Amino acid sequence: MRCNICGSTEFVDMNSRKGVRCKKCGSLERTRLLYLYIQKLNFTSVPRILHIAPERGLSEKLYELAGENYISADISMEYEWCRNFRQIDLTELDEIPSNSYDLIVHSHVLEHIPCNIAYTLFHLHRILKPAGVHLCVIPFTGEYWDECFAEIGEKERKRRFGQEDHVRRFGRKDLSKSLGKIIRLPEEVDLLQEFTEAELKEANIPEGYWRGFSMTTVLKLRKEDYLLTDPNSGNPEGAVCLSGLTDSEEAFWFAKEAQYLRECLALTAKENRGLKQQVKTLQNSSQKMKKYEAEAKKHKESIRYRIGTAFVEAVTSVKGFFLFPARITGLFLEKLNGRK
Ligand SMILES: [Zn+2]
Repeated sequence: MRCNICGSTEFVDMNSRKGVRCKKCGSLERTRLLYLYIQKLNFTSVPRILHIAPERGLSEKLYELAGENYISADISMEYEWCRNFRQIDLTELDEIPSNSYDLIVHSHVLEHIPCNIAYTLFHLHRILKPAGVHLCVIPFTGEYWDECFAEIGEKERKRRFGQEDHVRRFGRKDLSKSLGKIIRLPEEVDLLQEFTEAELKEANIPEGYWRGFSMTTVLKLRKEDYLLTDPNSGNPEGAVCLSGLTDSEEAFWFAKEAQYLRECLALTAKENRGLKQQVKTLQNSSQKMKKYEAEAKKHKESIRYRIGTAFVEAVTSVKGFFLFPARITGLFLEKLNGRK
């Protein structure tokens, strides 16, 4: 067994995962799997690469590959050591020009992003070149999608999302209804369709991660795998997670969500900041919250309001739960009233 990134043959434990961390470069099994995918990519010219939340060893390999075409990025300046570092906020990507990158790479990032994840994914695919590849590792854990941007405390975040700074969980049982509405997911994950047993073993990718969605699964996405861009494509649109609704109710909310997304994506970064401020104000106003809750109860709906790129959690009642983003709550309530 040899780290395919730095060549070291020594591995140490990572929490309860035995012998998965490279002692020299710090790569984890998911980092090495990412690099296995990258090694199989054929670029016809020097690729432009965006590496988000860069891993040290991997960043050196990518810099070797792309030179000054390599860009590392994160919202946190703690990655400033990395070559060609730029501070980027994944909730504000409007300013980056379209068709900029041949390769976008990130691992265990999307569970941290405090906005509608469809927004971030939309822009990551927008800035991808037509023949580009978006490689991302998403921790698929637990059963169902869950998300919360409110102040619920570290303990509750850890309980619901597995870590104190996560805002969502990508559960495995309702993937087709949550993330699968936004990007095209593989029907099944089987690393043996991409790599040989020998390659996986040599790179120390434990066999438990070879099949099925897991915390180590690498999604290899093409630009067209973002599903929400064409409202006329017939795709069921929306970053919505629904449970306990009939098909026609689901269709109704998907249509609303799609409309919201189109509005949201048309916003400039400045407007987005304005909306975030509105959300803060709303969250701080318990009186208004009570009003919205009462309104929602009147209509016997179970609602989590999401506003702009954040949301206000309001009521859970009759029908399980679903996520509904509305650009402004008032507008949403008007529509709800009109639905009676
Ligand atoms: Zn290594």
